[in-house]
Amino acid sequence: MKFATKAIHAGQHPDPATGAVMTPVYQTSTYAQKSPGDHKGYEYSRGTNPTRKALEDCMAALENAKFGLAFASGMAATDAVLKLLKPGDEVITGNDLYGGSYRIFTKVFANYGIKFHFLNLSDPEIIRHHISEKTRLIWIETPTNPTMQVIDIRAVAAIAKAENVLLTVDNTFASPYLQNPIDLGADLVMHSVTKYIGGHSDVVMGALMTNNEQLYKDLWFIYNSCGATPGPMDSFLVLRGIKTLHLRMQAHCANGRRVAEFLQNHPRIEKVYWPGFEHHPNHHIAKAQMRDFGGMISIVLKNAGLQETFKIASSFKVFTLAESLGGVESLVNHPATMTHASIPREEREKAGVVDNLLRLSVGVEDIDDLLADLEQALN
Ligand SMILES: *Cc1c(COP(=O)(O)O)cnc(C)c1O
Repeated sequence: MKFATKAIHAGQHPDPATGAVMTPVYQTSTYAQKSPGDHKGYEYSRGTNPTRKALEDCMAALENAKFGLAFASGMAATDAVLKLLKPGDEVITGNDLYGGSYRIFTKVFANYGIKFHFLNLSDPEIIRHHISEKTRLIWIETPTNPTMQVIDIRAVAAIAKAENVLLTVDNTFASPYLQNPIDLGADLVMHSVTKYIGGHSDVVMGALMTNNEQLYKDLWFIYNSCGATPGPMDSFLVLRGIKTLHLRMQAHCANGRRVAEFLQNHPRIEKVYWPGFEHHPNHHIAKAQMRDFGGMISIVLKNAGLQETFKIASSFKVFTLAESLGGVESLVNHPATMTHASIPREEREKAGVVDNLLRLSVGVEDIDDLLADLEQALN
């Protein structure tokens, strides 16, 4: 099946009890057993729930994966992956990461004796200099947040395979519509489902997808043991949202392109980060591994201090100043004080997250209204 069909049908079938076309919200914690152990595969909703299972199967299908697991947040999914590791293990990751990922690495798992190397992975060869027999995991995000670096997944996967290291790709920014890391050699894909997959800014959720059955079993063990699994109502909301993922992504990409081109020529803007520009340093890789370039754009304001940046960030009328991304509505974010505030200034600025940088999540409103709002906010 092709993407749009899978988005609408994968993992779902009319309810066997009633014929309900939409997967019901199985709002139950437990399931009747005929005699102890004689049940239909469902015992307790921390471990398995039919609404969640339908969503997990759908999300797995969209990533061309056999197995999917939904978590109570993107961070809970990340947490589960890190719990595969043991004290002494090492992780190689990018230096331009989602702030929450940086925080869980350095403030939570570093305390358990896991060592993290933060590298500029725009040239994957750098990995070879930091890999050792202790390296167990490579964790990448592409495009990166917020400076839209593009990392060559296939090249990183080749190194990971040769060194027998697990490769996880945080595919939140691209969504499964634009990029499928497992097809490029990744072992595991992570999503903040909160963003494009949910798409309506009404649910916090995460997911992991893999083709590796042993890895799936190990992760399911952590998922069930630690218990950060989402409830049936949230699963239902995402099942509803996911049906239009392809339509929304087409609109995000079309609007994103128009906004990027508009900003590129604007006198108040010093720099626009968007992987669709031919002058983007890794545009050729983006073109090869992504189907389009998405609706995430970051801008550096020309000669603007923090005050001026805050003033512009607060003067939008259609864009909402808020954390998060990937919903139908357009958002503007100030990474240095919002999404990336947990990264120390020096680290942050090295990765380009300067005080006069704003990140836009371009929604699917009418493009004329979005451009007019940008014009008035920048003036
Ligand atoms: C939001 C986000 C996360 C964390 O996901 P939550 O659902 O907020 O826990 C991880 N990675 C990226 C790239 C994100 O944007």
